[in-house]
Amino acid sequence: QAKARGQGSICFFDPQLQTELERRADLENELRQATEKQQLRLFYQLQLDSKGQAVGAEALLRWLHPKRGLVSPADFIPLAEESGLILPMGYWVMSEACRQLKTWQAQAETADLTLSVNVSARQFQQEDFADQVIGLISAHAIRPTGLKLELTESAVLEDVEAAIEKMHRVRALGVRFSMDDFGTGYSSLQYLKRLPLDQIKIDQSFVRDLGEDEEDDAIIRTIIAMSQAMSLQVIAEGVETEAQRACLESYGCHLYQGYLFSKPLPIEECEGLFKRFAPWRETVRSA
Ligand code: C2E
Ligand code: MG
Ligand code: MG
Ligand code: MG
Repeated sequence: QAKARGQGSICFFDPQLQTELERRADLENELRQATEKQQLRLFYQLQLDSKGQAVGAEALLRWLHPKRGLVSPADFIPLAEESGLILPMGYWVMSEACRQLKTWQAQAETADLTLSVNVSARQFQQEDFADQVIGLISAHAIRPTGLKLELTESAVLEDVEAAIEKMHRVRALGVRFSMDDFGTGYSSLQYLKRLPLDQIKIDQSFVRDLGEDEEDDAIIRTIIAMSQAMSLQVIAEGVETEAQRACLESYGCHLYQGYLFSKPLPIEECEGLFKRFAPWRETVRSA
């Protein structure tokens, strides 16, 4: 390549950068095929209330790579966002989640569970986002109140007016909205007040040092107080210990998600846990 430019031209060649660029291009190609080759999977992580009963689950994306095995979204979502591949992937996630929710709603024991789905900023910012969601709800004939969409502050902040309008349209059907990773972004309370939200999700970074770091305690108490004042549900993510859970409960947070209860699991295993935590089993167990 350097030669082709002719003598005298200056060429910067950085083998390390070259390798990195090639690696990215390979990954992007593979990622492009992931949706088509049906290598995407949804894992499910339980959400519980203070009584220890399952109230729902969050769908978390996994890429079942033929050579590398299960790849975590942290390793491919950023590239998927940059390349735009997040759009077909996000659509697949949403439709797969609706299909799953339908099977829960068709059975009495799981009929009232909610399913939370992560929506990327770019996906949400599509002009026809609301129409996509409305279309999927009707195609799968689900009760919309079982579906919860998790947005991040960055998804909303780009164009707050447009975000509010989209949220209102989808919410009019009964779909709920949750603000994910709350406290890690830059949204002002001014915006938060105007957003038609149902739930705030306390980021796991604040939960981690709960009971050990006074500032995290103060932040969590403030988030909970604010949520209550705004009549928003509040859920904590990344709950790993009973001490953290008890602390959250004492501060007024009554919904939890984290390794303390379950990791994100394939659907069969998650459904097994629903049964274990389900109230109707409680009576069987104590009988
Ligand atoms: P998130 O939505 O904040 O999801 C929570 C992450 O914390 C998940 O990581 C989950 O496995 C992990 N987690 C849950 N409980 C615990 C715990 O007790 N301790 C610790 N240390 N971690 C816990 P995961 O599955 O790797 O997902 C990472 C992020 O990737 C998600 O963060 C979300 O932002 C994104 N993501 C996942 N699935 C999707 C998807 O379908 N679409 C989009 N756009 N993003 C997704
Ligand atoms: Mg989430
Ligand atoms: Mg989160
Ligand atoms: Mg998080």
